[in-house]
Amino acid sequence: MNHPVTQAVPVALPGHPFVAYRNDSLQVENVALSTLAREHGTPLFVYSKAAMLSALAAYQRGFAGRDAQICYAMKANSSLGVLQVFAQAGCGFDIVSGGELERVLAAGGDAQKIIFSGVGKTRTEMRQALTAGIGCFNVESEAELEVLSSVASTMNLRAPVSIRVNPNVDPKTHPYISTGLKGNKFGVAHEDALRIYQHAASLKGLQVVGIDCHIGSQITDTAPYLDAMDRVLDLVTAIEAAGIPLAHIDFGGGLGINYNDDAPPAADALWRLLLAKLDARGYGGKKLMIEPGRSLVGNAGVCLTEVLYLKPGEQKNFCIIDAAMNDLPRPALYQAFHAIVPVALRGTGAVEATYDVVGPVCESGDWIGHDRALSVAAGDHLAVLSAGAYCMSMASNYNTRGRAAELLIDGSQVHLIRRRENVQDQMRQEQLVTA
Ligand SMILES: *Cc1c(COP(=O)(O)O)cnc(C)c1O
Repeated sequence: MNHPVTQAVPVALPGHPFVAYRNDSLQVENVALSTLAREHGTPLFVYSKAAMLSALAAYQRGFAGRDAQICYAMKANSSLGVLQVFAQAGCGFDIVSGGELERVLAAGGDAQKIIFSGVGKTRTEMRQALTAGIGCFNVESEAELEVLSSVASTMNLRAPVSIRVNPNVDPKTHPYISTGLKGNKFGVAHEDALRIYQHAASLKGLQVVGIDCHIGSQITDTAPYLDAMDRVLDLVTAIEAAGIPLAHIDFGGGLGINYNDDAPPAADALWRLLLAKLDARGYGGKKLMIEPGRSLVGNAGVCLTEVLYLKPGEQKNFCIIDAAMNDLPRPALYQAFHAIVPVALRGTGAVEATYDVVGPVCESGDWIGHDRALSVAAGDHLAVLSAGAYCMSMASNYNTRGRAAELLIDGSQVHLIRRRENVQDQMRQEQLVTA
């Protein structure tokens, strides 16, 4: 990424409206990252509340005047302080485990606005969600329908259900994050959906309330969404013709963000197109649900890290930083790209070199960026951008590394939302063999 020419007026980084250089120093909202690194140490996740709310506002503009519910797909970032921002803004939540349910409730979320997705819900999780009174189970198989019906029946309840259908549309994204194709483990096949809906409608412990799909993640094209909508609406027509009314249609999440000159449509522009199709097909009056994750938080966060060592080599120069694959797992998992920028810009005369930016973990897969032009020295701070989604929520303790601290920035205010994990935290569940 080219470093912007800086002056006293903040220069925002492309795609990151609340991350900007001011006087050659990188800030999140009104707070200098160099100050945060000094006061809180590194690696450190720093999130902008304004960036989250502005991403949410794009969806809200898109749905103005409609009966719509935005359910934040919290697996993207499930930290309580982040959930609280969305709960206070009136969002619902898309959860994939009983643990996520507990988090939503702890953050003040509304149980009735929760939808429960995932291919492997356990009976315990079903009971927990029924007890909490969640809004809908997004069921992913016929076997799950049977189990959910029996669990709800023993509680004298009817579980509200939607069936996740697989529109068999290629979202043209990384195979690991494409979910709506025939070979995926998610959802039920389009051609089986009507029969499975009829089965669901016959089960005593279930109340059919909707239909849903989710075709993948980091989608930067509008065409897959439009195609998936057509496929789902074909099913809505068939299912309702069979006498099973559907109160809502849930189009999932998946909208991409700008990691590396990606140009996803804006959420409001995308939904203008989708709503036009929905209206044209006569379904504009239905309750709509969506499940965005990455697009609400991804570019609201950066991971602040310190350069530990520079290690020049014959074939490669390495820039060894104090953040690693346990903090930022996406490059190792999906060869994903994160922009990496200096926290303090050096003058134009500074010498640049090309580095592989790597962490301290003992794996060759522990890289954060390949072939990056940087002008850096040991002790400098770098910001790994687009680190708000699928980073902290996927973080691990590999190599007995404590998970990073997290800060939520609101204007000039700094809120610590997760303290740095220490080794006592990590060893607390373990014990030596005594007998
Ligand atoms: C992961 C997931 C989402 C969110 O996907 P993003 O790409 O982060 O928007 C939504 N719905 C379901 C069912 C998911 O599994």
